Amino acid sequence: MTEIAFTKSNTLGVMPPEEQLGFGKYFTDHMFTMDYDPQNGWHNPAVIPYNEYSVLPAAMVFHYGQAIFEGMKAFRTDDGRIIIFRTKDYLARFNRSADALCIPNIDIDVVTEGLKKVIEVDKAWVPTKVGTALYIRPFIIATDPYVGVKVSDTYKLFILLSPVGAYYAAGFDPVSIKVEDKYVRATLGGLGEAKTPANYAMSLRAQEEAKKEGFAQVLWLDAVERKYIEEVGTMNIFFKINGELITPDLVGSILGGMTRRTVLELAKSWGIKVSERRISVEEVFAAHEKGQLEEVFGTGTAAVISPVGELSWKGKKITINQNQTGDFAKKLFNTVTGIQYGKVEDTLGWVDEVTKL
Ligand SMILES: *Cc1c(COP(=O)(O)O)cnc(C)c1O
Repeated sequence: MTEIAFTKSNTLGVMPPEEQLGFGKYFTDHMFTMDYDPQNGWHNPAVIPYNEYSVLPAAMVFHYGQAIFEGMKAFRTDDGRIIIFRTKDYLARFNRSADALCIPNIDIDVVTEGLKKVIEVDKAWVPTKVGTALYIRPFIIATDPYVGVKVSDTYKLFILLSPVGAYYAAGFDPVSIKVEDKYVRATLGGLGEAKTPANYAMSLRAQEEAKKEGFAQVLWLDAVERKYIEEVGTMNIFFKINGELITPDLVGSILGGMTRRTVLELAKSWGIKVSERRISVEEVFAAHEKGQLEEVFGTGTAAVISPVGELSWKGKKITINQNQTGDFAKKLFNTVTGIQYGKVEDTLGWVDEVTKL
């Protein structure tokens, strides 16, 4: 057990009504932090008040973007427990992102302990209504005050907690997506498989243009041939074609989503034919033509499952499943959220208790 320091905040906030939470706007009273320097490694694990943090303007993160993040969730079960979903799997991915950005790995056990401690301290902020959750945002920034390009020697880790409202408060409705053929998100050999701000900087212009054209998100294609499907802005993508569930394989430019993995593992356990392989936009449009494109949906921690009702590519638009949420997407959503809220038995060992009854 690591000693985690605790400084209690003397100004405790009040959580807004759960219907007004939205996403990512409110933060709890405390946060978990750690420091890194070459002499001490990762040290100073502490739960401290959520507050301004001061760093020199020369800090390297501002100039060269050496930073990584995660996005995970904790849930309040019907019987009042708090559970985190797949903690160690998300933190293992955090370390893979760290490798890509030359950031020293964290000790997953220490960070898990710190995460549980800060959630325990701020447990009054874990919302209770169906669909709500406590969003967890771990991130690491490079802090050397230096304006030359190099790998930083020092880092700061934070874990912020943010109560979030029901993603589908207005209904589980399909979205319209533009297949992006002008901009690219990531290339092979680049940072596409890391959760790093750089990938989001890459995506902003395409997302803005798509929004102006009335689309919710863009679907990225491979950067070389602009032919094979990669992923959506913040989600992985799945196609159900003629009974088979297909998602692009993790070639190196695609983020390996935890929800993607969860969906693949569930579908396999149900005996569904599952393929992780290259899939072109042409194949998807051709399957639609033949009446074999049954469902399309995105997967990500925020929305869990996001049905796609329309896909538009080079001015051609197809409508999927009459723009209705498919039965398979519904079943996945109900099963994943069922496990997350403790209503469906966790046979695959995905949940981590923060509080026991
Ligand atoms: C986080 C993220 C996803 C979804 O991953 P989950 O672990 O399921 O939340 C997909 N694509 C990108 C680019 C992401 O950053």
